[in-house]
Amino acid sequence: MRTPEEQQLPWDQLKQALKAQMPAREYTTWIAPLSVGKTDGRILRVTMPNALFYQKIHDDFLPLIERTKAELGLESVSLAFDLEGMPDVPESAYNEDLDDVLPPPEEDELSASPVAPSGVFSRSLSREHGPNTAYTFESFVRGPSNQFAMTTAQAVAAKPGQFYNPLFLCGGTGLGKTHLLHAVANEVLKHTPSVNVTYTTSEQFMQELTYCLRFARSNPTKMHEFRRKYRMCDVLLIDDIQFLSGNKKVTQEEFFHTFNTLYHAKKQIIMTSDILPQGIPDIEERLRSRFQWGLIADIQLPDLEHRVEILHKKAQALGVKLSPEVAEYIGKHTKKSVRDLEGNLQRLYAFSQFQGEPMTLELAQKAFKDIFFMEAPKTLTVDDIQKIVADHFKIKIADLKSKKKHTAVAHPRQIAMFLSRKLTSSSLPELGLRFGGKDHTTVLHNVKKIETAMAVDLDLRAVVDTLQRQIEQLH
Ligand code: ADP
Ligand code: MG
Repeated sequence: MRTPEEQQLPWDQLKQALKAQMPAREYTTWIAPLSVGKTDGRILRVTMPNALFYQKIHDDFLPLIERTKAELGLESVSLAFDLEGMPDVPESAYNEDLDDVLPPPEEDELSASPVAPSGVFSRSLSREHGPNTAYTFESFVRGPSNQFAMTTAQAVAAKPGQFYNPLFLCGGTGLGKTHLLHAVANEVLKHTPSVNVTYTTSEQFMQELTYCLRFARSNPTKMHEFRRKYRMCDVLLIDDIQFLSGNKKVTQEEFFHTFNTLYHAKKQIIMTSDILPQGIPDIEERLRSRFQWGLIADIQLPDLEHRVEILHKKAQALGVKLSPEVAEYIGKHTKKSVRDLEGNLQRLYAFSQFQGEPMTLELAQKAFKDIFFMEAPKTLTVDDIQKIVADHFKIKIADLKSKKKHTAVAHPRQIAMFLSRKLTSSSLPELGLRFGGKDHTTVLHNVKKIETAMAVDLDLRAVVDTLQRQIEQLH
């Protein structure tokens, strides 16, 4: 057994080394407040004061921390991040017997009950209906935009329920969230085929629940079946959780209890969403806060180098020869989603088969002439931004351009100014004109105000990030 002092040691070493490499202010703000709690074996459990630290450490410091850890020869020590105040789960909860909660089904009733039509229960990842075997960690290309999400997913797959629970993967459409979920399932089942992995989407969860509830009165085993599927699994993968938003109260309620049962039994939960928990509208607060208990890992748009690498990997999987110029050409023109990247590669391949010509740059230019022309870099405009911001806050675009000062208008206007400054090349005086004739110092002041507020207000950051993503997906 290690003494508490020995457990503290690697963390102290790491902190000292980080201190030497970081600006003092950054160190004091972000690293000094972290503490090490219970440490089991080779895992340092680092506790962070709040979710903002997660985002900051992940966005800005994780590579440095990992590198420094390696330099100190501490590769074998893994870091696990917890949020302060996260409930400590009593060991006894582990064996909580579901039958205390639910009436036991009668044996003959269970076997006699009609099996749900296929498509309702068939998509659970039992071994019969396994995960998509093409979606593995090996086939997932790591890059700066997804390395945090991938690393945490791998950690979870190696030891479900032990590190980050729940793991909340967040990112725009077509950036690999579903791929990562299946990769976890594949990995877990590869090592321990007996583990019960359930994959669902929040929509499917709702449909199944509605179906079972309809039968609940005449056939109580239906609900039992439902709960057995979702509460007696070892790993629950739930895709596109943002669609729980606005869903019937009963669905959110059922998911809340499902979550609690699994969480207290230390079963792994992984959710994906295209918006941060803070940005999901119409969702019960107790659910939202649970989504934030574990770790939020987001996936950003891949950069050009990463996109090219993904194209090569996909070409390899298709058995297609792809030259560097053609990869670069497709990569340069396909920025918004990996799904489109893959689609364009397949399109070119089909085109070359059809034409009976090799996949040269000339052929690619011919194949994408119209498409890339249509997608040609339409730059984002202040108008685009004003429209999306006004829609989000349910105000008129004219209000953004007015001199009205009340918060319901002034706050969205500040956000729109901030985003316009960030996403367009308009100058400050130009922005002043577009926002109702303000002078450039007012614009600057507003931009800075949002910037500063975002550093501490995670809700605001979620809103601004979501708006930015919506704007960027426009073109
Ligand atoms: P999302 O669920 O985020 O909308 P998906 O997981 O469905 O996105 O990914 C869309 C497609 O892009 C899938 O075919 C997936 O294999 C592929 N993909 C996404 N990211 C990567 C990556 N980093 N490496 C390899 N393939 C990827
Ligand atoms: Mg998906």
